[in-house]
Amino acid sequence: MSENTINSDKIEKIPLAGLNAAEITEQLGLKQAFRGKQIFQWIGKGAESFDEMTNLSVQLRDELKEKAVLRSTSVSQVLKDPDGTIKLQVTLSDGFAVETVLLTDREDRKTACVSCQVGCAMNCAFCQTGHLGLARSLTAGEIVEQFLYLEKHAGPLDNIVFMGMGEPMMNLSAVRKAIAILTDKEGRGLSGRRITLSTSGVIKGIYDLADNGPNIRLAVSLTTADNELREKLMPICKTNPLPELRKAIDYFAQKTGKRVTLEAALLHDTNTSLESATNMINFARGLDVHINLIPWNPVEGLSFSEPSNKECKNFVYHLEQAGLNVTLRTRRGREIGGACGQLGKGLAETQGNGKKLERNDYA
Ligand code: SAH
Ligand code: SF4
Repeated sequence: MSENTINSDKIEKIPLAGLNAAEITEQLGLKQAFRGKQIFQWIGKGAESFDEMTNLSVQLRDELKEKAVLRSTSVSQVLKDPDGTIKLQVTLSDGFAVETVLLTDREDRKTACVSCQVGCAMNCAFCQTGHLGLARSLTAGEIVEQFLYLEKHAGPLDNIVFMGMGEPMMNLSAVRKAIAILTDKEGRGLSGRRITLSTSGVIKGIYDLADNGPNIRLAVSLTTADNELREKLMPICKTNPLPELRKAIDYFAQKTGKRVTLEAALLHDTNTSLESATNMINFARGLDVHINLIPWNPVEGLSFSEPSNKECKNFVYHLEQAGLNVTLRTRRGREIGGACGQLGKGLAETQGNGKKLERNDYA
């Protein structure tokens, strides 16, 4: 088969990983709805070819191969860090690529960290992905496929976090659809309790999620509770100021009964002072939150530097003294550029076929 044929195949055939059972039945024109359900179950179990679907007749499998593909993407690179972190580069049907990471913690819990956009338009000063700009948002199928690839590499995963490339609130419809598919009891059946969406602080999105679901966990990348500094580090803060962000977090926690995680990448001599700690204490006081601190992971070309251990411990100490619930995250996946905020390195050249990437201060 020539390469051309393969490409046109990918465009014409229906990718199934982003569809639920009813949609599979409908789009494939199946006469019996339970067939759609069977196919959906196989996909959730990680089947990679129609021939694995042994409860379908050979004839039906052959028909399906003509009409559909299980995945629209492919894994183009696999990197493994000695600490157990695995990073996959996933190439999309139009030539763009995203990265997706498997993290294993000390208790051996496995978490998929998935991307929801090719790059990101939010332009946070300290983030590798932010420096790529945004090419496009992912489809639900492209998100689900990342999870399925990681399970193939690492066995059943415990958690999924939307903390890879992109701002999930700017692609909420596809993120919702992907979550609906992954939590569907007929399919993979992941629990909503095991899913976390991380946002840079898109206030409208937080209310939308609280009011309309799905019922998942929320993390907010606070970084700093000093509004002036936050505007410099995270341009979104100019249109989504801290006092309103705080109200939205409170609303989410009250409405869902779920504790919200506040994340902060600690930047040397930037957001780790006693004053910064005091601001964070004042912000967090009275909110049902857990604070997750991440020592900044180096990004080439950026003028920030890593905080020292002492700097991190001091910051933690101040927050704990004020009675806050704090975790200092250990550095993981850095050797393969798979740590928080490092995703997208090396992807720039493969992106976009000359297409100009967007960058904005939040639409
Ligand atoms: N766009 C979403 C989710 C992806 S970013 C968001 O911003 O929340 C995931 C996390 O990595 C965010 O908390 C972000 O603040 C953090 N981060 C970005 N760059 C980082 C870096 N270089 N080192 C450590 N954390 C970083
Ligand atoms: Fe986008 Fe999150 Fe990076 Fe900010 S930290 S640029 S929102 S991926």
